[in-house]
Amino acid sequence: MQTGRICNACKQEIQRDILDQNYSICPQCGYYMRMHARKRILSLADKKSFREWDANMKLSNPLNDSEYALKAVETAVKHKLNDAIITGEMNMEGSHVAIGVMDTRYMMASMGHVVGERVARLFEKAAEKKLPVIMFCCSGGARMQEGIISLMQMEKTAAAVRKHSEAGLLYISVLTNPTMGGVTASFAMLADIVLAEKGARIGFAGARVIEQNTGETLPDDFQTAEFQLEHGFVDDVISRAGLREYLSKVLKFHMNRGWYTGHHKSWGVNTVESDPNDLDAWETVLKARSRERPTSLDYVNQIFDDFMEFHGDKVWADDHAVVGGIASIYGKAVTVIGQQKGKNSMNEAVYRNWGMPSPSGYRKALRLMKQAEKFKRPVICFVDTVGAACGIEAEQQGQGYVIANVLRETSAIKVPMLSIIHGEGGSGGALAFGVANEVWMLENAVYSVLTPEGYASILWKDNARADKAAELMKMTSKDLKGLRVVDKVFQEPEDLNHTNMGELCLQIREAITLFLKRNEKKTEKSILQERYKRFREF
Ligand SMILES: [Zn+2]
Repeated sequence: MQTGRICNACKQEIQRDILDQNYSICPQCGYYMRMHARKRILSLADKKSFREWDANMKLSNPLNDSEYALKAVETAVKHKLNDAIITGEMNMEGSHVAIGVMDTRYMMASMGHVVGERVARLFEKAAEKKLPVIMFCCSGGARMQEGIISLMQMEKTAAAVRKHSEAGLLYISVLTNPTMGGVTASFAMLADIVLAEKGARIGFAGARVIEQNTGETLPDDFQTAEFQLEHGFVDDVISRAGLREYLSKVLKFHMNRGWYTGHHKSWGVNTVESDPNDLDAWETVLKARSRERPTSLDYVNQIFDDFMEFHGDKVWADDHAVVGGIASIYGKAVTVIGQQKGKNSMNEAVYRNWGMPSPSGYRKALRLMKQAEKFKRPVICFVDTVGAACGIEAEQQGQGYVIANVLRETSAIKVPMLSIIHGEGGSGGALAFGVANEVWMLENAVYSVLTPEGYASILWKDNARADKAAELMKMTSKDLKGLRVVDKVFQEPEDLNHTNMGELCLQIREAITLFLKRNEKKTEKSILQERYKRFREF
């Protein structure tokens, strides 16, 4: 008689075959039970495509601990596992990948020599074969029975990840429950895209140790996947059932030299007749600020196919005033980044901090730009902010330095960059998204060194004269085209909003396609020179 597994959350006994059909998710309460390595591989690999690497590695027992040697043999026999990780290569929906999957049944998937060696070889061999790596992590940390030798595995694996990355290859890690200690502090966190399974516990020091050390009571969500997302360390939290599809999609974005083979949007739009506007500068400012205007995400979703959002700055937080990720346009993969205002409710406006990015937002943007550079994807930025976040915390985190750093670094990003100002373009906070080979603007957007209210207040100590300031500041698309601050202006339909933006988006889509074509054959050197020259002229 087959016995089931007991769910950790609801304590019900679940039949194994039912669990196997349900990705080891408890059908009673939805709890993600730990998934055994071979089952994980079976759930992802195309039929019979998995080939194991380094299967017969012998246990290293560097401290000659006889108790450890005995326990290792017993564990291996009991679970049919030769140490805590399985590595190899396989196909997944046609994409050829190298894969590593850890298994907590073997000494809590702690990392000793065999785990470290298999991980290092996985990345070395993948680099040789030019394969992306997918790593499923779970671990209690370093393997104590191997002492200092287990500590050395952290650096060994981190260095192997770097070598693989320097070959321009993709690494995706999926952090599962639990990923702790030396594995978190080495290869697990070093992926280009770090994903976490819903509810997984992820951290460096264990919660109990932290409580003992600090005497503080920790919040319930401490070190959960969701906590890590909010604090900027994982790109996204994903559900197990949709994982194969999700990973396949990410892989497709990174294969075929950036030509995405996924789904393409079909286009049907109503043409909206529009005449050039005769608004004065202040009226344009009010229009640019209108809550009816589409947001960056509206444009991203309308113009591109298959947008995948990634989160976090890998330092402190995920700033919701900045959104970014990968998308495609007529099959060409690009990185898109935008400043995002909330528009439907006060809650959303607060959540997005009125579209004013914090240092975390600029760090996230720069991280995504550098990733685009690694994978040779053009970058397209959408500008819509009254300015960078203004407050104590922003200053404590060096808002000025962070923006300066983006300006410096974006001058050297070796892929074509395009910036589209579609709403408000205020100050250095906007410019940080505006260092591009070409800068475009919508007819009723504005772009200026600060708000007209701020200008009037500084120069005349009277912010009621903002309308006069707006006129003087030359902040409309017409003025800026004349000053050659922007290269191209798109005419808008009357009272632009998300219901009448179709024709405009189609025009932008076509123009982006031409921009990509214009830049396709250029060398990295000439892309950089052109961008440098564009701003050097002012
Ligand atoms: Zn359950």
